[in-house]
Amino acid sequence: MKNITTLLHEGIVLGDGGYLIELERRGYVDSGSRREKVGTGRGSGQFTPEVAIEHPDALRELHREFLSAGSQVLQALTFFGTREKLNRAGYGADTERINAAAVKLAKEVAGDRALVAGSVSRTQLTEREGMESLGKSRDHLTEQIRLLKAAGVDFLILETFFHLAEMKIALECAAAAALPTVATMSFRPLIAQCTDGHTPAECARVMTDCGAIAVGANCEQEPARMLPLLREMRAATGVPLAAQPAAFRTTAQCHSFTRLAAFPDDLETIQVSRREFVEFGKTAKAEGLDYIGGCCGCNTAYIRALADGLAEAK
Ligand SMILES: [Zn+2]
Repeated sequence: MKNITTLLHEGIVLGDGGYLIELERRGYVDSGSRREKVGTGRGSGQFTPEVAIEHPDALRELHREFLSAGSQVLQALTFFGTREKLNRAGYGADTERINAAAVKLAKEVAGDRALVAGSVSRTQLTEREGMESLGKSRDHLTEQIRLLKAAGVDFLILETFFHLAEMKIALECAAAAALPTVATMSFRPLIAQCTDGHTPAECARVMTDCGAIAVGANCEQEPARMLPLLREMRAATGVPLAAQPAAFRTTAQCHSFTRLAAFPDDLETIQVSRREFVEFGKTAKAEGLDYIGGCCGCNTAYIRALADGLAEAK
């Protein structure tokens, strides 16, 4: 199996879709709906990955579906897998076990047909406790990245970071662990800047300077809404560009589905059609994208749609 740098060099890499929302819909993940609210968001506070140890067959099946749709990378379901976040869901003592199990499952399914990326997300400490908590974030991210490396991931995807300051720390932790890293920020409530006030172009430059092998954006908005920010990033950096948009329709006033009233219990009402992902696949090359996949709301149908779009563009 080629490594991620070689794959990116050879052409557009097809990633996979979103795990937590799909598994929540299938009944295996707790959304925390109406229980815990975080920061100023309307959303719930759980969506943790204990499914890796509680319902491994469900996770294995979703990996298989993405693989059969053409995904060249499977993301281990280690999103929100820091001890900090797992503690809040009552699974802190299982941090090692959840991270190891998630990577093992993804590797079993991937075999020599796909690479396995460890998913590392924000800790949520910055939303809860402010920027003074960045030191604690560093400790938690260091621990999780150590666990993912020990479990044998091929590379890391740092995703759904709202603060560039926390992303920088995660990139430093990844560099210290000597793992190749794809880094994607999430922009809300508008795509003009991230939560600590940096434009997409600034984010792209900083992530590049911190050693990411690819930079970009994931989650929060649908492809058409994300495209302008990706163009800004494209103009600002020479490294490969990665995009894993959500499949939920946002509005001109709010570019973030997790800030809409539909999150998390009425998401079906704002689901975008897979057709938008066919279009996204078709235009990926012309837009200078090098890695495309989906985030929340993207099941296998959406990854097949991306694959169809890519094939049509050839
Ligand atoms: Zn997402």
